[in-house]
Amino acid sequence: MTTKKSGLRLAKRLDEVGFSDIVQIRNKVLELRASGQTVHTFHGGEPFFDTPEPIKYAMMKALVENKTRYAPSSGIDPLRAALAQKLQSRNGIEATTEDVIVTAGGAHALHVAFQAVLNPGDDVLLFSPFWTPIRDMVTGAEARALLVPTRTARRSGLTKTLEQFSTPHTRAIYYNTPQNPAGTVFTRSEAEEVAAFARKHDLIVIADEAYEDLVYEGEHCSIASLPGMAERTITTFTFSKSYAMTGWRVGYAVAREPFMSGLRKLVLYSINGVSTPTQWAALEALSTPQSVIDARREEYRAKRELLVAGLRECGLDCEIPEGAFYAFPDVSKIHKDSRKAAAILLEKAHVATVPGVVFGAQGEGHVRFGYSMSTESINSGLAALKSYFANPARSAR
Ligand code: PMP
Repeated sequence: MTTKKSGLRLAKRLDEVGFSDIVQIRNKVLELRASGQTVHTFHGGEPFFDTPEPIKYAMMKALVENKTRYAPSSGIDPLRAALAQKLQSRNGIEATTEDVIVTAGGAHALHVAFQAVLNPGDDVLLFSPFWTPIRDMVTGAEARALLVPTRTARRSGLTKTLEQFSTPHTRAIYYNTPQNPAGTVFTRSEAEEVAAFARKHDLIVIADEAYEDLVYEGEHCSIASLPGMAERTITTFTFSKSYAMTGWRVGYAVAREPFMSGLRKLVLYSINGVSTPTQWAALEALSTPQSVIDARREEYRAKRELLVAGLRECGLDCEIPEGAFYAFPDVSKIHKDSRKAAAILLEKAHVATVPGVVFGAQGEGHVRFGYSMSTESINSGLAALKSYFANPARSAR
C-alpha cells in the first residue's frame, strides 16, 4: 500500500537549513531575567551605542519631505553614488554607481550573493569558525560548505590549506575579515594569497566586510581592491556595526557584471528595495566624520583590553582578537563540550555566551564573548566570572 504524501510540505531545499542557535540562548536569558535574576549578557553582537542623532534626524526629514514612495529597487542614486565614492576612497575598490546595490543589511546582501552565483552541487570554501548563518545560506542555495580551519591555514599557509580542502566542485570562497566570532583580521599578504588562489582556480569570492571599521591591529584590506579581483568578487557591507544601525536593516554590495544583474533581480523579488526614508538616513550616515568612527574604535579597543585581561585573570586562554567586538577564549577547562561550558557559565555565573561549536566544529572548546557593552557591564560580568572560578561548585544567586 502506498501512503499518499501530504502536499502541505516545505520546499526540499530548506530541509537542511538550520535556525539560529543564538535565539535559544536569548530565550534562556529572557527566562532567567523574568525570574528576577541578573544576567551578564556577553552573547550579543550589537553596537553598545545609539544610532547617532544626525542619522535619526535625516530619517525624520525624509518622512516630512514625503520621501516615502517607491525608490529604484537597487537603491536611490545619491546613496549609490556616495557609496561608490566611499568604496573607491576607503576600500580602494574601483566602483561606479552601477556597481553598487543597496540591501536590507549585510545578511540580505550575503543571501542574494550566494543565490546569485551558486548552483546545486557547488562547493563553497569557508574559513572556520565562521558566522553561523553562512553555512545555512550556502545550504539554502543547494550548495555545500567546505570548512577550512583558520588556525591551521594561518599556521601552515593559506594556499596549501585551501588546496587541501578544495574539490573539483569548488565555485566560491567566503572571505570574512574582520571575522566573527574569533576577531581574526587577515593581513594584506593573506588577502593576496586568497586572491591568487581564487584567480588560479577561477573562483568567485564573496567578501564580508561588516566589521571594516573595527580593526585594532594591522589594516583592513578589501580583497576586491587587489589586482584582477574586482571582477570576481562580490563584497558585502552593512551600516549595522559602524553606525549602530542594526535595526534599520540597511547594507550594500559591490559587484561587476554578470553578478550585478543577478543581485538586482534577487533584491527586486525579495524586497523591491530598502525602505526609502531609511536610504536617506544611510546617506547621512556616510557623512559621519572619520574622527567619530576612530573615537568609537578606541572605545572598543579599551573594552577589548578590559575583557581579555579579565578572562586571562580567570585562567582562560584567550588570544587577543585583532578586530570586530568578540573574544573567543578556550573554555575546555570548564567543559570540553562548548554547549555544556556555556550552559555551566549561564547556570553558575549567570554569564551568557555563545558556544563555539555553533560557529563550526573548529570553534569547539571555545565560547564567544561579545564586548560591545558598557564598561560597567563588562566589569560586573567579569566579577561574576571571577567569583565562579574562585568557587566553581557554588551557583550564582
Ligand atoms: N557578517 C557578519 C560577519 C556579521 O557578524 C553580521 C552581523 N552579526 C553580518 C554580516 C550582518 O549584519 P546585518 O545583517 O545586521 O547587516
